Amino acid sequence: MMYYSLQRQAPEVSFKEAALRGIAPDRGLYFPKEIPRFSTEFWQELPKRDFLESAMQLMQAFTGKSIPLPELREILEKTLGFEFPLIPLEDSISVLELFHGPTMAFKDVGATFMAGCLGYFSGQTDLKTVVLVATSGDTGGAVARGFLNVPGVEVVILYPKGKVSDIQERQLTTLGANIRALRVRGTFDDCQALVKRAFQDPVLFENQALTSANSINVARWLPQMLYYVSAIQQLPPGAAPPVFSVPSGNFGNLCAGLLASQMGMPAAHFIAATNPNDTIPRYMESRNYDPKPAVPSLSNAMDVADPSNFVRIRELFKNDFPKLAAKLSAYSYTDEQTLTAIHTLFKSYAYMADPHGAVGYLGLVKYLEDHPHHTGIFLETAHPIKFRETVETCLDRELELPLQIRGLLDREKVFSDISTYEELREALR
Ligand SMILES: *Cc1c(COP(=O)(O)O)cnc(C)c1O
Repeated sequence: MMYYSLQRQAPEVSFKEAALRGIAPDRGLYFPKEIPRFSTEFWQELPKRDFLESAMQLMQAFTGKSIPLPELREILEKTLGFEFPLIPLEDSISVLELFHGPTMAFKDVGATFMAGCLGYFSGQTDLKTVVLVATSGDTGGAVARGFLNVPGVEVVILYPKGKVSDIQERQLTTLGANIRALRVRGTFDDCQALVKRAFQDPVLFENQALTSANSINVARWLPQMLYYVSAIQQLPPGAAPPVFSVPSGNFGNLCAGLLASQMGMPAAHFIAATNPNDTIPRYMESRNYDPKPAVPSLSNAMDVADPSNFVRIRELFKNDFPKLAAKLSAYSYTDEQTLTAIHTLFKSYAYMADPHGAVGYLGLVKYLEDHPHHTGIFLETAHPIKFRETVETCLDRELELPLQIRGLLDREKVFSDISTYEELREALR
């Protein structure tokens, strides 16, 4: 499989090169040259087959010759080393829990897969690989954990001071080893701007390979399709193709679901559920793409004004708006609505959701109101403990600390403070 840049100026590359580069030299996102189509039988027989085998077939279509099968199997075994349970809440609504990984965020899958790929590639070169990543919350922890002790790879994480939760900060500042955290005086957008600038700085590329681990990287983006495949695998026999409601920020997760659907996976419809950062809901309404500055919300991992993966979604539909609109609806919700949803989910189903999952739930409920004959699945992308203050205050009860979190609380945070590009550059040299 070859990948082309969505700016269409840079040459086509293999999966390996796309994963190592992160972004194409012309600043475009990489996109697979063909969308492989899997047969109806493949999808029908999914429940009978071993999930790892199916995942290998699907991913191999994208990794091609870049990763031999035994190594791909090893990487996927690590990536899929935890459950994605599909839990019915009532006849027409189920929740797909994606937070059972080591950092309790769905980004563990993409981060672990990417770390496995880069670890394999770095074994083929003497050059040190530096992974540079800006995080608004969950990416940093998942990337830190996925790359911990991967030989030949060093990770530098930038996060905005005071804008990530205590647990999130601990997850990215307490690992040590090959993981470094830089706390930036500024916003997530400032962190991203610093990262972008580093990628344009030739001096930094002199004796190291610099790559990003944001969801623009194909190695992080593509394996996310496996969540949806796992949901389909767990549906009861004879179930109708479901509607998927996806709490969305940078739109990588949703884009992977839409990709799976174009590969033949049964899905009736997709919903992009956003917080007040509603660029896409407004776009779907007006066809006018008009990002406004990001505003902070309770679902802070989705505080993104200009979602980088949306160009991939448009490309998937060949920029045909009516076709896109036939498969995708988008809705936006306020913090107040999010809190009400957390309440409702607990009262109606004794289900504890985090603010992101709650936004996904709201999107699904809205769609099912208008399309009552459908059944749907909303994605729960983080464990509620990661947004402990919000959920505890909202439900007026204490959450139990899961094992993955308990170990973090007495570890010391280690980070350096930076505010300028010069300081970042110094840290990277
Ligand atoms: C990153 C994140 C999202 C948004 O996912 P995108 O792929 O960026 O749309 C949603 N929920 C949580 C908890 C996240 O960490």
